[in-house]
Amino acid sequence: MSMNRPSAAASVNRKMIRQNPSASQAVASANVDLTSIFECPVCFDYVLPPILQCSSGHLVCSTCRPKLQCCPTCRGPLGSIRNLAMEKVASTIMFPCRYNSGGCGVSLPFSEKTEHEESCEFRPYTCPCPGASCKWQGALDAVMPHLMHTHKSITTLQGEDIVFLATDINLPGAVDWVMMQSCFGHHFMLVLEKQEKFEGHQQFFAIVQLIGTRKQSENFVYRLELNGNRRRLAWEATPRSIHEGISSAISNSDCLIFDTSMAQLFAENGNLGINVTISMC
Ligand SMILES: [Zn+2]
Ligand SMILES: [Zn+2]
Ligand SMILES: [Zn+2]
Ligand SMILES: [Zn+2]
Repeated sequence: MSMNRPSAAASVNRKMIRQNPSASQAVASANVDLTSIFECPVCFDYVLPPILQCSSGHLVCSTCRPKLQCCPTCRGPLGSIRNLAMEKVASTIMFPCRYNSGGCGVSLPFSEKTEHEESCEFRPYTCPCPGASCKWQGALDAVMPHLMHTHKSITTLQGEDIVFLATDINLPGAVDWVMMQSCFGHHFMLVLEKQEKFEGHQQFFAIVQLIGTRKQSENFVYRLELNGNRRRLAWEATPRSIHEGISSAISNSDCLIFDTSMAQLFAENGNLGINVTISMC
């Protein structure tokens, strides 16, 4: 939404350097020149430590390297020669975030770069549907149009208090159930996954994610409740943002979890109703 702002700021900086070349600005422009010598000749991403060179001294990044038979610059053998001098230089300069062209103005030491990029608000959103079969990526405001266009079979219920009905929960193998819930002017995706985290032990994982940023998700609480046969099982938490996704929450058990025998206690004719309540906090 503010695509023009960073480039406007960059041109202001350049003007300032021309008018008033102070020492700190000279350092900044030297830094820009140094980062360019770390550019991978194949993908134009940065070559970061551990840095390996070919026998003639050319560099290639660690992502491209395993895919290459020989040095892309001189066609010589790749070998495994460390370039400690380049590693030392890399540790003294700041690298721009990879979403720089998307609007992120952050530069940071290479050791902090990956962690920042994983949570960078300028990172494109991926499709929130579980199963990872859809490779779509785009801006936040393009997520709902994508879901409505490509994942037409997902039903949407309106309201803050709904029942997410998962049918045929006894289907064998890994299965996902997905539904959308709209309330408070936002869209939430409800996911029930059946998977075998430990061999021979099938479990259900239920979680709610907001089609929105992490910051927006902090305004909400979701509650999942299984209810029936004089039993009740409930879970309350902050919805995940689709920017983080749900796979780490599932592997960290940060969701409602129950096994197949417990599911039987609440199921009726193989169908499981989960009460979902979303509230603002
Ligand atoms: Zn590369
Ligand atoms: Zn070479
Ligand atoms: Zn960034
Ligand atoms: Zn998709």
